Amino acid sequence: MLMESKTLYPRKKTRSVKVGPCVLGGGQPVRIQSMTKVHTRDVAAVIDQVARLEAAGCEIVRVACATEEDVKALGRIRAGIRIPLVADIHFNYRFALEAIDQGVDKLRINPGNIGDEARVAEVVEKAKSRRIPIRIGVNSGSLEKDLMQKFGPTPGALVESARRHVAILEKHDFRDIVISLKATDVPTMIAAYRLASQRFEYPLHLGVTEAGTLIRGSVYNAIGVGTLLQDGIGDTIRVSLTADPVEEVKVAKMILESLRLREGVRVISCPTCGRSGIDAAKLAREVEDRVAELEGPLTIAVMGCVVNGPGEAQGADFAITGGKGQGMIYAAGEQVRVVSEEELVDALFREIRKRRSPR
Ligand code: SF4
Repeated sequence: MLMESKTLYPRKKTRSVKVGPCVLGGGQPVRIQSMTKVHTRDVAAVIDQVARLEAAGCEIVRVACATEEDVKALGRIRAGIRIPLVADIHFNYRFALEAIDQGVDKLRINPGNIGDEARVAEVVEKAKSRRIPIRIGVNSGSLEKDLMQKFGPTPGALVESARRHVAILEKHDFRDIVISLKATDVPTMIAAYRLASQRFEYPLHLGVTEAGTLIRGSVYNAIGVGTLLQDGIGDTIRVSLTADPVEEVKVAKMILESLRLREGVRVISCPTCGRSGIDAAKLAREVEDRVAELEGPLTIAVMGCVVNGPGEAQGADFAITGGKGQGMIYAAGEQVRVVSEEELVDALFREIRKRRSPR
């Protein structure tokens, strides 16, 4: 697991909520979540995807429960994975009860969508007795009709929706609550979470909903989630991308690392230009693809030429600096060897392994 670095942005204190062994809020590091993208009933595929997510740095995983078969698969999934499991349920209170029996660590369900009071009470009592927290997930695309008609998907309407769901749980003296207020519009999402952080003491799960494909979604999330994290708001994040969920985790880690909320492996690479004597872009991609092998905190620089190369290399733990068809390997600011372009990445990783223990 990555370490939290000394933060520049003091975090707003929230109540701490336990999701299995993982604590959200209460000053704990911001946790990374993702969601599987295969049918939950396909247990082997889910377990395989969760293993990839965990290896990438995912700390909590959510699965969609669309059918009874999905819900019945939760126990086998729980037994086959190591990180906390969250069941995502929309309206069916029986699914929520069954998910708790199957051993999930958290529910994502909006109590206002369950139906009558007796059903709500049954779910809440069971969750309480098993210490299963509930995330209230308000989404700009599924706001209550009256709020939508009166206000539209505004920050105030999102927070009011959350307030109604919270009130139902609090009425049952249930306080293991996490809240999300996701919107597709980044300024709306930012304003909604800011408002929510003033209103609620519960941990906030940040995200831009339906943010888009890899590049667009990463940018929208970096701005939306990143702005809030700079405000000290947010206890857990999910970067939603129309892409392999492993990409979600990589982007989430990069957002946290960029704000120094985590110390991971950082790859600095120059944009390359006409001075580059090597294919620095290709080398940087290769290095980036292999950083999962390494443990942070660690900074690696990949520089195309000697103009800025040695300078960046001095400030990085390890570096490649390009010459003509060959390059220099640096360690702790010192040039340690010159190798051909083809051998640069392997030589860099050999040098790192020699000096650091691999994961
Ligand atoms: S380090 Fe060299 S190759 Fe890279 S952008 Fe700067 S001048 Fe260009």
